[in-house]
Amino acid sequence: MKIGIDFDDCLADYCKVLIDHYNKIDGTSYKIEDAITWDLGYLWGMDEKSAIDRCINFYPKEKGIEILPVYGAIEAINKLKKNELIIITGRPDTTLNFVVEWLQKHSINVFSKIIFSNQFNGEKRGKAEICKDEEVEVFIDDHLGNVINTSKTGIKCFLMDMPWNQGDIPSTVERVESWDEIVERINK
Ligand SMILES: [Mg+2]
Repeated sequence: MKIGIDFDDCLADYCKVLIDHYNKIDGTSYKIEDAITWDLGYLWGMDEKSAIDRCINFYPKEKGIEILPVYGAIEAINKLKKNELIIITGRPDTTLNFVVEWLQKHSINVFSKIIFSNQFNGEKRGKAEICKDEEVEVFIDDHLGNVINTSKTGIKCFLMDMPWNQGDIPSTVERVESWDEIVERINK
C-alpha cells in the first residue's frame, strides 16, 4: 500500500515552534491551543496574506531551531514501513535540504520520495491531485481542506486532530488523535 504523509504537524512538531518564534518577537505568549484556525493572522493581528508572509519568512530561520518529531510519529512510521511511504508537503521546494536534514537527524529513512506542492508560492498541483497522480491509497494530513479535497477522489484520509482543524468532516475522513490510532486502523 502507498501512503502519503504530510510533513509539518504530522511528522515535525512545527506550528508550536512557529508560534513560539513570533511570541518572542511580539512579546506574546500564545500556545498551540490558541491556533484555532489555519490562518494565524487573527493571533498576530494582521490579514491572512501578511500572516502567510510571516510563515514564508520563517523558513530560512528554522534551520537553527530544534523542531521535534510529533509524538509517536517515528515509532509509527517504522511500524508502517512495509508500505511505500512518501512525504507530500505544502512547503516550498527551497526547504528540501531542511526536510532531508531533519529526517537524517531523526534517523528516518523510510520515505521513498518527498513532494513539495509549494502551497504558498505558485502551487501547480494541490495535494489531492498529487495523491491521485501518485496513486496514494492512504493520505495523512492536519489540514482540513487538504483531507476533504483528497477524500473526494476516493482516497482514504486521516485527519490528525489539531486545534486548527476542528469542525465537521465528511464521513469519508477519519479524525485521529494519535499516530497509534493511525497504525491500528491501517493495520486492521
Ligand atoms: Mg501540516
